Amino acid sequence: MKKAVVVGGGISGLATAWLLREKAHAAGIELEITLLEKERQAGGKIKSIRDDGYLCEWGPNGFLDSKPQTLDLCRALGVDGRLLRSNDNARKRFIYSEGVLHRLPENGPSFLKSDLISWPGKLRLALEPTPFIARAPKGDETLAAFGRRRLGDEALKKLIAPMVSGIFAGDPETMSLQSCFPRIAELEREYGGLVRAMVKLAKKKKQELAEGKVVASAAGPGGILTSFRGGIQELTDILTDRLGDGIVAADETVERISAGKSVPYRVMSDRGELDADLVILATPAYASASMLSDLDAYMSHLLDDIPYSSMTVVCFGYERERIARDLDGFGYLIPKEEKMNTLGTLWDSSIFEGRAPEGQVLLRSMLGGACFPGYIGLSDDEVRQRVMGDLKSIMGIEAEPSFIRIFRHEKAIPQYIVGHNDRVTALEEKLKSHPGLYLTGNSYRGIGLNDCVAAAHRTSDDAIAHLKQR
Ligand SMILES: Cc1cc2nc3c(=O)[nH]c(=O)nc-3n(C[C@H](O)[C@H](O)[C@H](O)COP(=O)(O)OP(=O)(O)OC[C@H]3O[C@@H](n4cnc5c(N)ncnc54)[C@H](O)[C@@H]3O)c2cc1C
Repeated sequence: MKKAVVVGGGISGLATAWLLREKAHAAGIELEITLLEKERQAGGKIKSIRDDGYLCEWGPNGFLDSKPQTLDLCRALGVDGRLLRSNDNARKRFIYSEGVLHRLPENGPSFLKSDLISWPGKLRLALEPTPFIARAPKGDETLAAFGRRRLGDEALKKLIAPMVSGIFAGDPETMSLQSCFPRIAELEREYGGLVRAMVKLAKKKKQELAEGKVVASAAGPGGILTSFRGGIQELTDILTDRLGDGIVAADETVERISAGKSVPYRVMSDRGELDADLVILATPAYASASMLSDLDAYMSHLLDDIPYSSMTVVCFGYERERIARDLDGFGYLIPKEEKMNTLGTLWDSSIFEGRAPEGQVLLRSMLGGACFPGYIGLSDDEVRQRVMGDLKSIMGIEAEPSFIRIFRHEKAIPQYIVGHNDRVTALEEKLKSHPGLYLTGNSYRGIGLNDCVAAAHRTSDDAIAHLKQR
């Protein structure tokens, strides 16, 4: 019987272990799988905390249904009936600019009417499909360089930068277009511009719909945010449960991976040692770096070079009647130039039902990220004051919250800075000299839950192919 050790019990490790078991079974391969997780509870960044009648998401609050991966995983687990889709009004997203919350325009006419971008800014945007726009450089470029080049400075500040902080807690001046938004880089290469790509793709979709090749979807291009009634943690709880205690060993920290004697690898943890034919590291890059330092110093060095942003997540609960404005929407993001304290606030109880007790609302604000690294060191009192200050200026909330929870992520999200793709390619090359060793998770080719599940599929496929060769 072959032995596989998966290290890390976030969505990436859990999904990889589950898929590996299913695929090994289907291929008739006898495989003993062990998943080692440092914390007492598996789930990694996913944690849905029920407290005082509120449901607070410590990390992600769901996945988008515009990509199939997580949805398909839920179907394969037979739990898609338990999914909770975000309310319709969650399509309304806002950007705070010059003292006003502007609804993010969803189409051309609403964009023209919107005051978010000035007329000179709109005219600059209108140049996007024209030959006046500089061509893409040969190699990678930062998101800021791409935004300035194609859309102009104002669109960069008010549209792109807030989106980058909303997704990556990142700084567009350092983040890589090719690694963060590979599809956008591809569309520019293929169609010569974003508007041209949208027009051509819309035509293609119309034709495919007419020919019955695709099914019309109610989801917008961004998709519908999807979770579970009990929060997104239901997903990792289900996976942990399906794998069972026989596979998931919690509260065990892996310290080192070394070459084995009779089998390829030896996994050393704070509880003992395990021999393995396959080792899958589904841990953050810095943790994998430390585990691999003896086995391969170069790989360890490459992994250590992937930076992380920090983030503080703040949940405030209020009596609904203490908030004068409507909370009809997803929430808002704030451009850095507004000089506010928070990156934005999600109106969690408007997005999903059941997130706050009757008559109460739950707002979730984010602080820090790559542009404000020092914020992770703020005391609870400073955090509370800053969030309250922003909510007062932006939403006119004068009241004290009746419920407060503060969660800190010292290493929240890996930053795909320019050169990230080269680093990942070098890692993939180097892995070829360690057959049976795999790296998976959010550090390499996408940070969303869908990306993590897609990576889990690739990794489990590669591992099965490797076992079949032996
Ligand atoms: C605040 C926040 C909000 C987010 N919002 C969204 C969202 O709404 N939608 C979305 O799609 N994505 C979102 N993301 C991104 C997404 O949550 C993550 O990319 C994803 O959960 C990462 O999963 P992972 O399994 O790759 O890594 P992790 O969840 O980090 O799991 C890694 C695991 O490895 C374990 N580990 C580390 N070292 C060791 C060791 N030495 N031995 C054993 N185990 C070890 C850790 O304890 C952890 O459990 C958000 C992220 C954050 C931080």
